[in-house]
Amino acid sequence: MDLFSINSIKDILGRHGFHFSKSLGQNFLTKRYICEQIAEFSGITRDDCVLEIGPGIGSLTSVLAESAKKVVTVEIDRALLPVLSETLSEYDNIKVINSDIMKCDLKKIVDEEFDGEKPKVCANLPYYITTPILSFLIESKQFSSITTMIQKEVALRICAKPKTADYGAFSVFIQYYTEPELLFKVSPDNFIPQPKVDSAVVMLSLREKPPVSPLSEEFFFSVVKASFAQRRKQLVNGLHSAFGNVLSKEGLTDILISLGHKPTVRGEELSISEFSDISDMIYKKTEEKRSF
Ligand code: SAM
Repeated sequence: MDLFSINSIKDILGRHGFHFSKSLGQNFLTKRYICEQIAEFSGITRDDCVLEIGPGIGSLTSVLAESAKKVVTVEIDRALLPVLSETLSEYDNIKVINSDIMKCDLKKIVDEEFDGEKPKVCANLPYYITTPILSFLIESKQFSSITTMIQKEVALRICAKPKTADYGAFSVFIQYYTEPELLFKVSPDNFIPQPKVDSAVVMLSLREKPPVSPLSEEFFFSVVKASFAQRRKQLVNGLHSAFGNVLSKEGLTDILISLGHKPTVRGEELSISEFSDISDMIYKKTEEKRSF
């Protein structure tokens, strides 16, 4: 069965009375070589277990199954189940789970389906929920890498460096936990139906440990969030909005100066390690007040 010809995709979907759902981000790939590149860049071998999110009609799923030991794929749309039973019938190393990925117990899936072996994630993610899914996968700490198609704009944010327009709290979050790499861009004419945005494939290699060790990870991320909350404003104002109840603007300015920054510095100028230093300093200075 050719899962990559528009006519055969239309034929399969028509026979099953399937209608694309815009709200579920259903844009299916029509080019085999893109699926092959996703599998190749992710470095899947016969020893690897793979978790896929959103198989659609199973085009990427089938290509992954040709290289991997086992593929578990989670699809939210019940209407695609009969389609997948037909399109993936010749593979005995694929399991389809009908669920919302955000409601899955990922550790349980890994323990039960992959004998606790750390799988790789490969996907063409639904764009309406890309950042929550990526955060959920990363925070679960169950995977060794995530290779996925996402909106180009999100891919650029993920890989952005300080002092660029795309750099923000999500760049810091991703780069704290992973080493991201922008692999290649994909134009809308490679999908049915065509999305309104450009896409890109990124690979996130999960770090063994983060590049910095803040005193409190939770506090570090609250500092990062506050630093980008008012992007156009100076960092000290963002920090004061978040921590003004425990530290004065002067106190925050002193912290920035003591760490070698100008009082006018903006959040987007700082590296992850500079955020960590600022976070630790505020954390220590506010320890007493925070404990009440
Ligand atoms: N992998 C297929 C491909 O490349 O052609 C389809 C990708 S399509 C962009 C996204 C898929 O994710 C759709 O099949 C959609 O139904 C599914 N999906 C959307 N939200 C989901 C969720 N929360 N959990 C699991 N699957 C979801």
